[in-house]
Amino acid sequence: MQRRNLLKSIAAAGIGGLITPREQKAQTAVEKAIRGLPAPKIKDVQVIETAPAGVRLTVVKIVTDQDGLFGYGCATFTQRADLVKPAVERYLKPLLLNHPVDRIEDTWQMCYDSSYWKNGPVLNNAISGVDQALWDIKGKMARMPVYDLVGGKCREAADVYRHASGSEIQQCVDMAKQFKEQGIRHVRVQVGTPGYEGYGAGGRGGAMVKGLRDTGAVFEPAPYIRRALKLFEECRKQLGEEIELLHDVHERVTPSQAVQFAKDCEKFKLFFLEDPLSPEDIAYFRLIRQQCSTPIAMGELFNSPHEWLPLMSERLIDYIRIHVSQAGGFTPCRKVAILGELFGVRTAWHGPGDVSPIGHMANVTLDVVSYNFGVQEYSEFNANTREVFHGVPVLEDGYVWPSTKPGWGIEIDEKAAAKFPFQGTPGSGAAPSSNTSNPRSGLNGGWGEVRKRDGQIIKQ
Ligand SMILES: [Mg+2]
Repeated sequence: MQRRNLLKSIAAAGIGGLITPREQKAQTAVEKAIRGLPAPKIKDVQVIETAPAGVRLTVVKIVTDQDGLFGYGCATFTQRADLVKPAVERYLKPLLLNHPVDRIEDTWQMCYDSSYWKNGPVLNNAISGVDQALWDIKGKMARMPVYDLVGGKCREAADVYRHASGSEIQQCVDMAKQFKEQGIRHVRVQVGTPGYEGYGAGGRGGAMVKGLRDTGAVFEPAPYIRRALKLFEECRKQLGEEIELLHDVHERVTPSQAVQFAKDCEKFKLFFLEDPLSPEDIAYFRLIRQQCSTPIAMGELFNSPHEWLPLMSERLIDYIRIHVSQAGGFTPCRKVAILGELFGVRTAWHGPGDVSPIGHMANVTLDVVSYNFGVQEYSEFNANTREVFHGVPVLEDGYVWPSTKPGWGIEIDEKAAAKFPFQGTPGSGAAPSSNTSNPRSGLNGGWGEVRKRDGQIIKQ
């Protein structure tokens, strides 16, 4: 540039707005790029329901007014699966049509506030479907995986834990050995209690104890605790110290039993003890913290910041393990992860079979961008699930890897999804899909009705 022209451009920029030709050129290029990509608008909001592994998965698809540009988000609430679809179609879709896709925070807040009463699982899952679909779209627009959109990876992949179980202690230990041989470094161990219903054990050994109510499943906390402690002892004997052990109480014991159990676990050096208390009993976490050093994980039932904020800010738990769609999606859980970093609480996002592969990808994305990542629960995807969801997270040597493709990197074959309709929902006339013998368990997609010997129903 001639000196005369340079002086002219400086004069044109005015005092306080000095700009060099190089900066001008860069700004023009950015403006041109932005002008070339107008913010797309939401043209349609659809709900995909599919159960390729027998578990009811719900995914929201947001279609934009630009050809071929759409996104997917996990909205899976399998225990009340039929309610999420109308929440999306009847209440969120009218808010969203013609709304620009580029303002994710604004859209999330708009959806969240629109019901006035909020923080319930149905509406939070509906919002999550929308939220994650918008992140998928933004990633596709930027041609980046979502982890790059939020700053990029701080680790290559996420350490996972797998589930070892058995009706007998040796079965569980043998399964844990197999995982160890496969390179898995973290294993959750659950064992059946002879005569009683358990959680996550896949069997109990012996006939069920007869209870006063004829509902079949009987649970008693004391025999469960004694059995679990024997399991940990045997795990340490046979597996050694070079494996991280985890265990899920599934909030089935009383608060004082939880405190005692956490103390008794201390010598086995668990990686974490999960859900020793129900969300209703969170005040007792302080007692556990005061009395022992067993690391505590909590949060898969949480819906609201009112639940996790006190536990995290007072450093009463070690791992926060929210079910991401249950809390409203990627946007709020990214904030939870950052909050955890400030208070020394690590993440262990809920990752069982009742999270869709889109939700699993959101989990792994949070894992690789959060400095305070702890561990990731991982569930295998069966052949039917892979037929529906193309590009699921990959497990290798005990690590799960996010897709490197733009957005979540997952495409859904909707024709394949339609081959696996929901089963066992009220009024559908279809048989329940359930992994227990309780005929009512299909109604809620969970564990059915479990009662103590005297007939009292238990939290689970
Ligand atoms: Mg759990």
